[in-house]
Amino acid sequence: MFIFLLLPLAEMVHRMEKAILFICDGLGDLPVKGRTPLEAARKKNIDRLAKEGINGMMSTLGEGIIPGSDTGHLQLLGYSPREFYPGRGPLEALGAGIDLEHGDVAFRCNFGSVDAKGKLLDRRAGRISTAEAAEIGKALDGMMVDGVLVIFRPTVEHRASVVFRGRGLCAAISDTDPHGEGEVLACKPKDGSPEARRTAEIVNKFMKIAHEKMSAHHLNLKRMKERKLPANVALLRGTGMFHKIPGLNERFGIAGTCIAGGALYKGVCRYVGMDAQNVKGATGTKDTDLDAKVNAAIAALKTKDFVLLHVKATDNFGHDGDFEGKRKMIEKIDAAVGKLMKWGGAYIVLTGDHSTPVLLKGHSADPVPICIWGKNVRTDDVKKFGERACAHGGLGHILGSDVMPVILGLLLKAKMYGS
Ligand SMILES: [Zn+2]
Repeated sequence: MFIFLLLPLAEMVHRMEKAILFICDGLGDLPVKGRTPLEAARKKNIDRLAKEGINGMMSTLGEGIIPGSDTGHLQLLGYSPREFYPGRGPLEALGAGIDLEHGDVAFRCNFGSVDAKGKLLDRRAGRISTAEAAEIGKALDGMMVDGVLVIFRPTVEHRASVVFRGRGLCAAISDTDPHGEGEVLACKPKDGSPEARRTAEIVNKFMKIAHEKMSAHHLNLKRMKERKLPANVALLRGTGMFHKIPGLNERFGIAGTCIAGGALYKGVCRYVGMDAQNVKGATGTKDTDLDAKVNAAIAALKTKDFVLLHVKATDNFGHDGDFEGKRKMIEKIDAAVGKLMKWGGAYIVLTGDHSTPVLLKGHSADPVPICIWGKNVRTDDVKKFGERACAHGGLGHILGSDVMPVILGLLLKAKMYGS
């Protein structure tokens, strides 16, 4: 009898607190005919979350600052991008599964098409398929240029990550992607250092060799026969250098997992020392399998303290100016939130990384609603989750830099300031 009583008690004492940071990308919006997509959505679970939780508004990077998805996520994880932002290239490379080393220079890359004179015909190589790009990419992976290793990793459709690994490289160099029409650009040093000059030279040599190898590739010869555009140039942009930084575990004493479809989000999480799962059906687009992601999050929390659960599609619909699409996506997210609440094993912090209003078809600086739900949360009078309602919540108006400290508090990892 005695033992039976003790066991559950012991379990209670050792039970770790857990938290899910549920980020609906670009969630915030502006009213269209009086209501935002979030306010118009039928979402009984999310509204119950708000009713039982504490709510507020959150400006990710500060008032009036329009967050990018990379910088916004870094900040929400407790890493000020002003201090820690490595550039988009390294984050995408990490998200593509490349294990970066200190001093690597990474780019985002598009397979493009050029004519014989080097004029850019298409920045997406005639919408080349993922399978064909993967095959052509193999011809570029692992080459050495002046003693520098090139890691070339195709990802989805015309996209790829490219990493230059060697001693004394520098990321102060320009893109070769013209970002529009015109000629493919030569990579130029952005400062007078010998490292930048040498790195730019290596990149230009890589561009030339890559063009030759791609032009001769049997799949491109086949594409041209079929009157398709060849993928015969690697357009590089978003350069950055990877530096190893202290991870979540080192800084805050928590272990985290990322559940996301998009490579960028996995990359941000890997950068801060979390692991990133590849969940089957998590596509990072509108057809993503939310149920699979929720199951993966619950499974991960058996061993981890913290999960970042990311849904991209709300942002996609915002960029498309699709009010109804965004509203319906929020209704799908409602089912996912309902399942997590029913499970009940973790605090839920529901928010976005920024607003992507359908009227603007782009990111804006408008603050995003945020809700924290779980057993030891002080509630407020907010009954529904939305831009207007949450502005009256008990959290008030917080910044993105407040989010991780609040989560650490929920996880009982916050330290006393003073004594
Ligand atoms: Zn975003």
